[in-house]
Amino acid sequence: MTLKLSRGQKIVLATSNLEKIKELKDLLAPYDIKAVTLAELGLKETEETGSSFVDNATLKARACAEATKLPALADDSGLSVRALGGQPGVFTARWAGPKKDYVHAMKKIEDELARMEGHPDRRASFVCCLALSSPEGEVRTFEEKVDGELVWPIRGTNNMGFDPMFMPLGYRKTFGEMTLEEKQRISHRRQAFLKFVGDCIEQ
Ligand code: IMP
Repeated sequence: MTLKLSRGQKIVLATSNLEKIKELKDLLAPYDIKAVTLAELGLKETEETGSSFVDNATLKARACAEATKLPALADDSGLSVRALGGQPGVFTARWAGPKKDYVHAMKKIEDELARMEGHPDRRASFVCCLALSSPEGEVRTFEEKVDGELVWPIRGTNNMGFDPMFMPLGYRKTFGEMTLEEKQRISHRRQAFLKFVGDCIEQ
């Protein structure tokens, strides 16, 4: 199979994250791609053992495509904080712990910044790498980021994860204060998705 998806084609979303599924399905909607989830197929997400977003997206997409014999789209993403040397980065999900407590995770980031001398650099980026794998293991990856700054206290309850702490450059609202539609116009996931569409969906 070449890595081109035609309209009406079925793919698997190689993630168990319900918020990512919501955003990816919303992005895919105009393209008439039938996206099924791991949960619908009774499967679990593969463990992330890579050291980069590309590695993790690739291994998740490949494992899912091999298991289901369908093209699989994986998303590996995270928050990169400049003053913390890029942390939490690929370990972003782990900062929220097993209970996925994002308020706690955002507080942890703020505490790390507060420990720094002077006025810490509050710049940060959200990064998203999308990987499409064929059942034969051929993979294409698409990585993008959106730059912004971290606000405190957190603002808004919309969308997902660390969104209430992240205000994209040139905007006065955090992703947590934006509607899904507003976030999806500019997000890291959307930027990576546009590259994926250009290369992998038959026009
Ligand atoms: P992973 O890709 O499964 O390693 O997890 C990504 C982590 O980054 C999760 O903790 C997400 O909540 C967080 N994350 C990824 N994308 C976003 C986003 O668009 N907004 C807020 N948090 C995000």
